[in-house]
This record gives sequence, structure tokens and C-alpha cells, in this order.
Amino acid sequence: MSSQSVADAVRARIRDVPDFPKKGILFKDVTPVLEDAALFKRLIGAMAREWKGQAIDKVVAIESRGFIFGAPLALELDAGFVIVRKPGKLPAKTLKTSYALEYGEGVLEMHEGAVRKGEKVLVVDDLLATGGTAKAAATLARGEGGEVIGYSFLVELSFLEGQRKLEGLPVKALLTY
Ligand code: AMP
Repeated sequence: MSSQSVADAVRARIRDVPDFPKKGILFKDVTPVLEDAALFKRLIGAMAREWKGQAIDKVVAIESRGFIFGAPLALELDAGFVIVRKPGKLPAKTLKTSYALEYGEGVLEMHEGAVRKGEKVLVVDDLLATGGTAKAAATLARGEGGEVIGYSFLVELSFLEGQRKLEGLPVKALLTY
């Protein structure tokens, strides 16, 4: 199956939920995609193909839907897997960074030492909207001396221009709205 036909099949299965989690947001629910075993496997293959042949030491994935895609991608790419979480969830010593949300600010954490100096890092999440979340994950990886080589998403909401926050690095999304 070509990446385009995988993308078409994923698009057909993404569920649009209006006004979730608040009024005015059209939530792209990826859970129906995951229920299809063959499609889940193919979409991970298609996401991984974009990065094959590149040296990637760590996949850094963002809580919580980023974990769903990040862990199998790390396996496909022979990379270690690192989780970025909301405050108070990680048990050991962490680095923190704050980033702007629509209202107020969000904080993300990563374990100290989870990324090592000079390691090449791919940041993974389910969806790129304004880019603040992905950029915060990159900031954490860089805080440990990691080199972010790109960003991988299942979905990009291109009308929100999130790529503008991602420093001109390669951004791959299987499908774009
Ligand atoms: P942003 O920081 O604006 O790029 O937002 C990206 C994060 O928010 C990702 O972790 C997404 O899972 C989530 N997100 C933002 N907008 C949506 C949406 N319309 N549908 C589903 N998830 C979203």
C-alpha cells in the first residue's frame, strides 16, 4: 500500500468531534484509526518511511496521544523512546519548560538524562496545530544537548501554521487539513 493510500484510509477513519474539548475546536479523534489493526500497522510503516536511513537516537513523544505513535515509530527506527509529560507525572528528576496555550500557559517535563548530549532526536505527536507543544518538546530535548532533526505527526492542521514555530526543520505529517 502506498503512503498516499494509507493516508486516504486514515483520513476516512478520523472522527471529527465538534466543540471538544471546548466550543469552537473541531477535535480530530484518531481512536477509530487505531481500532483497525492492519491500518495501524500500515500507518506506522508510512510514518517511519519518511525517516528511514537517517540516524535517529531518540524518539521524543508527547503525552498522551504522541505515545501511541511514538513508541512503534521508535521500534521501526531503531531509536530509544523518551516521554514528555504534563507536570507531576514523571517520578525522577525532570527538566521543565512552559509554553503558551490559547488561554494561559502549559508546562511539560522530561526526565533529566533521557536525552544525551549530541543525540539526534525526532519529536513525535499525533497532531500539529499551533506548534507550541512540539516546540516545547524540542526545547526539552535541546536542554539536555540533543539535536532535533525533525518532527513527525500523523495529522497537520496546516491552516494554523504550526510549522512556523518549528525552526525550518523537516516536518512530516501523513495527512494535512
Ligand atoms: P499545538 O501545541 O497547538 O500544536 O497543539 C497540539 C497538541 O494539542 C497535540 O498534542 C494535539 O493532540 C492537541 N490538539 C490540538 N488541536 C487539536 C485538534 N483539533 N484535534 C485533536 N487534537 C488537537
